[in-house]
Amino acid sequence: MTKEELLAQIEKAVKGCHKCRLYRTATKAVPGIGNPSSRIIFVGEAPGFNEDQQGLPFVGRAGRLLDDLLADIGLKRSNVWIGNVIKHRPPENRDPMVDEIRACKPYIVDQIKAINPKIIVTLGRFAMDIFLPDAKISEVHGKPFRVSGRLVFPLYPPAAALRSESVLRELKNDFRKLVAASKLKEESVPLFKNGNSLVSDRQMNLFSL
Ligand code: URA
Repeated sequence: MTKEELLAQIEKAVKGCHKCRLYRTATKAVPGIGNPSSRIIFVGEAPGFNEDQQGLPFVGRAGRLLDDLLADIGLKRSNVWIGNVIKHRPPENRDPMVDEIRACKPYIVDQIKAINPKIIVTLGRFAMDIFLPDAKISEVHGKPFRVSGRLVFPLYPPAAALRSESVLRELKNDFRKLVAASKLKEESVPLFKNGNSLVSDRQMNLFSL
């Protein structure tokens, strides 16, 4: 099966998913969207009000900020793939529950396998937890980690940057670091692994999409 076919199959499953309670209160499922051949993907936490209405990820204020941050590093939404860990909006935007994350996680895992990106940018704690379960976002944001052959780059969620000037500054700064991390050369540039041991990675360039 092609990437597109695999992603379409997952999308269909997400749209019909009743594995947890969230489908009951949601308007539309939000499977994720973008370029299936992208070398970089962005994974957020869960849909909010606007995402739930439209069935698309990051289309509210946080999404407009994400578009601006992408534009700052020369990328457009259509260049990359964007999705969430949780595919149906939690009521009143509450935090997802442990059983909801457990039920939904296989979808993002399968989407990542289908796309096979070099770089996974996590936006917020719940997305980061999938790859770096013991990490604290305040300590690790903006640092590249090697996880199962991919580079995981944890960032603060754009919604938090809308509430705090200092988080916005950190997020903008981290996006610049993402550009540097994406051009890592073998041997020369250290990556942080769980526990901060250093490993190297092959040259990667997120702009050669
Ligand atoms: N925040 C997220 O984590 N995901 C969205 O789709 C929108 C806001």
